[in-house]
Amino acid sequence: MPSVVSFQSSSALQGLAGGAKPGTEQLRRQNLITVLSALRRSGAMSHTGLSVETGLASATVTAVTADLERAGAIERQEQAVSGGRGRPRVMLSPRRSFAHVAAVQISSDAVHYALADYRGTLIDRFSTRRDLEGTPASLLDEVSGAVKRLMERSRLKPEDVSALSLSSKGIVDAEAGRLVWSPVFGDRPVDFAKLLDDLPQAQLALNNETLLVAHAKASRQMQDADAPDFSGLITLSLGHSIGLGIARLDGQGSLAVTAPNFGHMLNAVDDRLCRCGSRGCIEATAGFYGILRLAFQVPPNTIPARFVPLAEMEKIALSARQGTRMAQYAFRQAGLALGQGLSRVLSLYENMPVAITGPGTRFYDLLAGGMEEGLRQSLHVRLNGLPHIDIEPDEAGLVFDGHVDRALAAVDQRVMAVR
Ligand SMILES: [Zn+2]
Repeated sequence: MPSVVSFQSSSALQGLAGGAKPGTEQLRRQNLITVLSALRRSGAMSHTGLSVETGLASATVTAVTADLERAGAIERQEQAVSGGRGRPRVMLSPRRSFAHVAAVQISSDAVHYALADYRGTLIDRFSTRRDLEGTPASLLDEVSGAVKRLMERSRLKPEDVSALSLSSKGIVDAEAGRLVWSPVFGDRPVDFAKLLDDLPQAQLALNNETLLVAHAKASRQMQDADAPDFSGLITLSLGHSIGLGIARLDGQGSLAVTAPNFGHMLNAVDDRLCRCGSRGCIEATAGFYGILRLAFQVPPNTIPARFVPLAEMEKIALSARQGTRMAQYAFRQAGLALGQGLSRVLSLYENMPVAITGPGTRFYDLLAGGMEEGLRQSLHVRLNGLPHIDIEPDEAGLVFDGHVDRALAAVDQRVMAVR
């Protein structure tokens, strides 16, 4: 049976080991997580440093690090004290080779592969172009071959990979490891659980890409001592398709991340045909193909292009910036659909800052006016004001961090079973 991990938050640490009192066991697991996360953040720390950083008593740090060393998850190194006198300082750090995460980001036109060690450090990465005429079976073959290449390049054996973390645009069934609907394959599903046949020790995680972006953006903000107190945020990914992620703190103070189906939320009663087969989805106006279709006045019920190269979008943007009315109108309509959609999300939740990511950020100057107009049409925004909007250009970095962070958290849960 493949083990499929769907990681919600650190509060999901249940399933207690037999015998121990629930309260004690839960506390022990929480302390292990606290120590591992602190070590991963800083790279290496002394016993005293760990106690200060985590707020745990010195005796607790001793017990926790002994457990982690026994499991092989951390290692100690002696560091000579400057001046050469006195006892060397003992530094603790996660043992790099304890676990490896293979991350696979499937986008519309390419697949990106990355390998990270147990410290969360990037070891290797490469990308392959995606065969747009491919099938789910050919994609699985392609990914399986590339993951083997990823292991060979770093001289890893199949059992050295502890987590295979995949992401895609579209709708995923995280529990089953299945991509249910995707821009390229439509409703032909892709069963990624099969990939575990070659990786005997790996847990599989499958996530919507924008969920990873929201997770990583929120984690960065929560760790940033200079940032204002975190309560929640929205990430909005603009490109060929439109993705939205919401990261919020739940009642226990744990991070809960979701990726509602924003791109295919019905937005307007119009004829604009979406890739999903519906008419009037946000994506049908705000996705790259929606903008292209409107700019060139192609009939709105034309079946959308599978993929619009970025160079094509740059040409439309240039012509909009030079004053071409139809091109300007296309971006404005896209902004309007995004603003109206966002206003609905804010009405359902509360005001949260919005971080915009993805290749579409380079056209934000052309989208911003329509977006603000769309937001202001709602009572919620008139009463509460516009949300704070940020442009975050490094979407790829956030996706990688999201993969590694969540996959290592799942590996950490396995460490906790060891005593
Ligand atoms: Zn749709």
